[in-house]
Amino acid sequence: KNKDELSYLIHWFNKLSDKLEQDYNLLETISITDKLTQLNNRNRTDAFLPQALENSQQNKQVLAVIMLDIDHFKSVNDTYGHLVGDEVIKGFASILKSFAREHDFIGRWGGEEFILILPDINTDEAKAYAEQLRQRVLAHDFAEVGKLTASFGVTISQPEDNVNQIVKRADDSLYQAKHQGRNCV
Ligand code: GH3
Ligand code: MG
Ligand code: MG
Repeated sequence: KNKDELSYLIHWFNKLSDKLEQDYNLLETISITDKLTQLNNRNRTDAFLPQALENSQQNKQVLAVIMLDIDHFKSVNDTYGHLVGDEVIKGFASILKSFAREHDFIGRWGGEEFILILPDINTDEAKAYAEQLRQRVLAHDFAEVGKLTASFGVTISQPEDNVNQIVKRADDSLYQAKHQGRNCV
């Protein structure tokens, strides 16, 4: 009888701990995932970037950071409504996912702005990558909306770089692309 009770307790204890583990894993996933696009969210990106930089510096490699921002996105919302705007952001995320290489990191940086962190790449390759992505966006037909463009800022890590400097350079370079008329790298 005692043995039965004990095995019953053990059974329920195991069930409970499985459930706790599942809930924990789910919460962990939610905390690093962007709800709309299922990309890495800003939280995850902020944690990943310093790690990626440190890794690349240890391995004497460079990494590239590409910031991209959808052009004139506000007018998509204004013309077609917020829900269609959301679909466009999801469409962009799909393009990025299908384009990325296995070890590329894709994050939603905010609103209609995305960040790519590309390990083990050089300047020319990073520029070519962004340029191909720009053309991929241009070739895409977004449901209801049709053609859209994006602007790109590209930067490469330097030996004594830190995360803030890299992000600032990528941002500045994106700003330049916007200033030069958008739809460019
Ligand atoms: P630019 O070419 O200079 O980037 O112009 P823009 O219109 O794309 O940029 P702006 O910063 O003026 O507008 C961005 C808009 O994106 C404003 C904001 O309401 C919208 N936005 C941000 N996040 C979301 C979202 O999750 N869903 C939708 N539908 N809109 C969003
Ligand atoms: Mg924009
Ligand atoms: Mg923006």
